[in-house]
Amino acid sequence: MAKQTEEETQGAQADSSTAVLRRGSAAKCWMAGGTTALALAISACGVAENMTGSSALAATTYDVESYALVGEYDFSAKQLNAKVTVQFASNAAPPSSVVLDSQVSEINSVTLPSGEALPFAVNASAGTLTVELGRNAVPGAAVVVDYVAKRSVNAGILGLPLSSFDARKGDPSKGRVAYTFSEPQSARQWMPSHDDPSDRALFSADFKVGAGERLIANGALVDESRRGPNGSGRMKYATTYSLPTYLMAFAVGEFEVERQRGPRGLPLSVWHRRGVFADHQKTMRQLTAMIEHFENLIGVQYPFEKYALVLLPEFGGGIEHAGISFQGENNSTQPNNISDLNLSAHELGHQWFGDLVTVETWDDLWLKEGMATVLQEEGVRKLNDEGPARGLDGDKRFVRAGQAIRDLARPPANKYTSGPYSRAGWLLSQIRSVVGEEKFWGTWRTLLQENRFGTLSTARFLAAFGPTLSPDVLAKVQTAIDAKALPSIEVAALDAGGARLTLKDAQGALIVPIEFQWYRGDGTVEKLTLSVGQSLDLVRKSPADFLVVDPEDIHPGLRQFVAAANRPQYFSALSPLLSPTGEASVARFLELKAVHQVSALLEQGLPPMQPQEFQSFLSKLDSNKARLQAIGGACQFAQTDAAGWKPILLPILQRAHFLSSIGEEQGALGTCANLFSPDEIMPWTWFNLTFGLPFPLVDERSVEYLSLIPAKPAEMLKVWSAVARRAYSIRSRETAAFTLLLYGRTPGAIPEAELPDWRKVVAALTASNETINATFAYVSLLRSIPSAVAAENQAGREALAGIIRNGDLSIAHPFSACTAYVLAAGDAVAWQVFVDSVRGAQVDEFTQQIFANPIQACGFGALKISDEGRKAHLGGVDDVTDGPIQRAPTRKR
Ligand SMILES: [Zn+2]
Repeated sequence: MAKQTEEETQGAQADSSTAVLRRGSAAKCWMAGGTTALALAISACGVAENMTGSSALAATTYDVESYALVGEYDFSAKQLNAKVTVQFASNAAPPSSVVLDSQVSEINSVTLPSGEALPFAVNASAGTLTVELGRNAVPGAAVVVDYVAKRSVNAGILGLPLSSFDARKGDPSKGRVAYTFSEPQSARQWMPSHDDPSDRALFSADFKVGAGERLIANGALVDESRRGPNGSGRMKYATTYSLPTYLMAFAVGEFEVERQRGPRGLPLSVWHRRGVFADHQKTMRQLTAMIEHFENLIGVQYPFEKYALVLLPEFGGGIEHAGISFQGENNSTQPNNISDLNLSAHELGHQWFGDLVTVETWDDLWLKEGMATVLQEEGVRKLNDEGPARGLDGDKRFVRAGQAIRDLARPPANKYTSGPYSRAGWLLSQIRSVVGEEKFWGTWRTLLQENRFGTLSTARFLAAFGPTLSPDVLAKVQTAIDAKALPSIEVAALDAGGARLTLKDAQGALIVPIEFQWYRGDGTVEKLTLSVGQSLDLVRKSPADFLVVDPEDIHPGLRQFVAAANRPQYFSALSPLLSPTGEASVARFLELKAVHQVSALLEQGLPPMQPQEFQSFLSKLDSNKARLQAIGGACQFAQTDAAGWKPILLPILQRAHFLSSIGEEQGALGTCANLFSPDEIMPWTWFNLTFGLPFPLVDERSVEYLSLIPAKPAEMLKVWSAVARRAYSIRSRETAAFTLLLYGRTPGAIPEAELPDWRKVVAALTASNETINATFAYVSLLRSIPSAVAAENQAGREALAGIIRNGDLSIAHPFSACTAYVLAAGDAVAWQVFVDSVRGAQVDEFTQQIFANPIQACGFGALKISDEGRKAHLGGVDDVTDGPIQRAPTRKR
């Protein structure tokens, strides 16, 4: 659950100056065609000043018709060498002085298509390229920009605009690949453009590819003229429809492609680096089923000529470019796993909401993210609700006070909070509950059809849904879009048992009231409503009564509305009402939607039952998620009655029919950890793990499963370090690295006598790895098990120096430098030796500050690094001095 919250809450620390200055100015320092690097340009040009008058004029007076990108990615220089032809609309002349958004590294030249040179100016601090068209400023004019975009290395919280990875230590796939990340305003970092969501244009990408390499981009493959026997040559894609720049993308590298036909013969493909093994055919069958389901709901056919799922290394989540979604190699290789499917469904849903119809401004972001959030649950519904009863997925929403659906004050890169995702999904579900399925999807159908290959604004959304809502509800919707506070529920225990709930909603986030349903012991059902400003008493009439909260599952779990200080009353007075007692009640409980079973089992544990009744109870639950909670409850019973419960539980844990939900319900099995050893549960899988899993011989979900069941400390170290070093997939290697981390961080888990072994092995793992997620795990682990004697941490410090000398791991430099200081254990000489050993390494300013003054820069004096920007800089780790260090969250975009 916490993971989901993280997923949907982007850090939002990107520099806002881009947005503020984006139309700042033109020509401060003119540059001859040549090779002035961005850094040099910043120092040479100084601060931007507005020299050409109204910036608004520049922003609105031109319209790009097409971008034709012709390029080559140079893997040794780690840069894109390209020319882009920017063609302006044929129905209006562009201004004589055109200001393009540009944050590429170098501009070599700007010419007319004829080759005639045009004067241009780069303003690096404003992120602009001003081209003087002069008398050439006629309708349909075009300019050709010849440029270089270097691979991005800064810690971009939203994704690096241009990434490339070559063969690396620790990465089982040696295929090299380069790819882009554009949303919201990063396309300008790899292609000078009019980087505004409201300016749609055609896009083509024409790349030189080396032997064994392929290009994937938006649009249709229009030319594949290969030269020579080794397959090198050129590949070109072109769209026949317009896109905003934030949806333009390419990836080039050593890809293998698997193909299948989807609905109506739609070409589906999965692109992956050589050696990224998975059942990609099954993934495509799942995508076909989702496309059919979405088409049924929405009533609009899948809009593009193909759907390509491109799996990429070090890609934290997914992003939806029109017809091509980029997702991580470590989160999209398990087509039988709900969390993988959920991500795939989200990006697929965007093909309608966000790609066919795009945002007019970044303040309309919530329309596309809210609908993708709705559809991501639709895509996995059959796995989350096995029975016919369906809810509106409110339980999947994690909302935070202060994060509004739409926050006009935030610059574009900072808008990616839980607001436009979960909170928008919640608002849309409330509207869906008010207007019903037919009107909800019907109104969207009209909106999509009327704005096909165009933009959609919040105002047009409200105008379309207005007639389906009463004036009162429409006003509430308008208020809820900008509300920052959450509703609040106060829980008080009643003397007679039960709870009194009082609901307030100061800023108007609620559209519909919260309902409750009593399943009374006499077989009747009683409905109750809690409206804003009212109180409601929830009291059992008989011991067999049980309560269902929010029967249609419209709202986020009510706990999110209860203040932390009031949670004890919630758990003591309200939660117990959810649990059924007695055979008849349990039978009715088993007919509920999965969501209600999950919340009762999660908050109250398993209803009292005999071990021999458990298997039948388990099989009648409505989802694997509910089953995992029930198994956790049974393991709780086994703590006091091992003889009765262990023989029942072992075969259930061995058969492991619940693996589809293992990724999202990891916490549920915590109570089972001390009952069984991993080799008792899955001997064959454990056997493979002891060899490091070099071949895909076991279901990879069971690797994740066994990672939740600790073995003895020495065995943990031996087995999981083998997997971390040798597993066939980066996913299992990362699972191993994080398993070691979580174990090593558990107080008292490793006996004192075994710590030297752990330090040695983890230092060796760190030194033999260049992948990013695992690097963060190892550095965190080194930091968790330091010796108080500096000399005993020497191998660790040397491994950390290796990270700092590696420019590909620059994102981990600050965290590694601070960790090296911890491992110096107060020994000034050891610290100085470390600093000397990394002298000459390419590091950013913050890392230099750490070398100069680690106590202040790492925040050790203040105990915590509280500054948001530094948190981001330290790699998304929430708190570098204590607290949980989690896996990099999956980001859905
Ligand atoms: Zn999204």
